[in-house]
Amino acid sequence: MIALTEPVLAKVTALSGTELPAYLYDLGALRDHAAFVRAALPDAVELYYAAKANPEPEILAALSDIVDGFEVSSGGELAHVAKAVPQRPLAFGAPGKTLDELTAALEHGVHRMHVESATELRMLAALTANRPASAPIGVLLRVNLAVDGGALADSALAMGGRPTPFGLDPAQADALAAELADGRYPGLRWHGVHAHLASGLDAAELVEVAASIVNWSTALAARHGVELTEVNVGGGMNVDYTAPESRFDWRAYGRGLGRIAEANPGLRLRIEPGRALTAYCGWYATEVLDVKLSHGTEFAVVRGGTHHLRTPATKGHDQPCAIVPVDSWPHPWQRPTAGQQEVTVTGQLCTPKDLLAQHVAAPGLRAGDRVVFGLTGAYAWNISHHDFLMHPSPTFHFLGGLPAGTV
Ligand SMILES: *Cc1c(COP(=O)(O)O)cnc(C)c1O
Repeated sequence: MIALTEPVLAKVTALSGTELPAYLYDLGALRDHAAFVRAALPDAVELYYAAKANPEPEILAALSDIVDGFEVSSGGELAHVAKAVPQRPLAFGAPGKTLDELTAALEHGVHRMHVESATELRMLAALTANRPASAPIGVLLRVNLAVDGGALADSALAMGGRPTPFGLDPAQADALAAELADGRYPGLRWHGVHAHLASGLDAAELVEVAASIVNWSTALAARHGVELTEVNVGGGMNVDYTAPESRFDWRAYGRGLGRIAEANPGLRLRIEPGRALTAYCGWYATEVLDVKLSHGTEFAVVRGGTHHLRTPATKGHDQPCAIVPVDSWPHPWQRPTAGQQEVTVTGQLCTPKDLLAQHVAAPGLRAGDRVVFGLTGAYAWNISHHDFLMHPSPTFHFLGGLPAGTV
């Protein structure tokens, strides 16, 4: 269960039945949270938002004056973010960048290119060969580092130090660093290293990971006689779906990054969280269509389902939710009502995987009551398989607009 905030409860209550299911994004709450995150970080740390977590233009605009830039992971995201928040610094990472995507990124004037393979460096070198040396493209080498400690081993989305298509194997990094350091590519300027190694870590673990990345990067740069000026230590700050009121410890993380920054004067650190910035501002509201008992388990079938909110199916968790009782029942037939203490909430899809939450304590839940899922502001609507079964799309609502004077 999750507590609804006052603006969300007011909006859910005000929505007409035909507007359900609905995604609500509380932009005021998002801005407050992002400002808190920014304030917890030292000045030496730049905060980018990983747009793939939720690229709704209103979300990007709400974050625009709080974050230092945006991380994009495809040519599509690059064009979309550049349009939604013009003139903001962009960092472009992704395996398998195409020549067209790199060309578009250069035309856009991307702030940082995260180079993930030798092929990509060749393409970039060719595309920038005639660039004036006074306006080089800034490059970070993305490296798939193995960092010490148990932190990464347990992470469900760990991508560092194991075989993945992301970034360079550390054994290849020296060869590319040597090319970037010897001046043969006047159109490129090498600033440092990027490493996004896992998602779902807590602050202490992520500080350890950041320290390892910085140490490794410092040694790499030293081997090539280059001053290390930037390290991007990625995103991956945990969102705990089992404890919706808890938050990643941004203050502890900020203090840890502050210690790393102090030990490395002149080094700019950058982070690029996705989920931990936007998850909390999103809500998926719907209504119970039917309640039924099946072999001892009581099911509440809601309008919509995992084709709108795939997160619980993907991550294998129960999406935290709240019930908003609706007392009127307009039909002459009996109102379906839960008889057990707990229900399993499913959607309308014809697959047993369409599970939104199990063990929801909702005694007396009735058809027509509204169910509101929290923590749906990241990797939710945009990762879902919308067209499966051809149900209608949800409606979208943005609460708490931007203060006057912003875009
Ligand atoms: C997905 C991604 C992020 C954001 O990850 P979160 O777990 O949402 O914080 C950051 N950097 C890169 C390169 C990514 O692929």
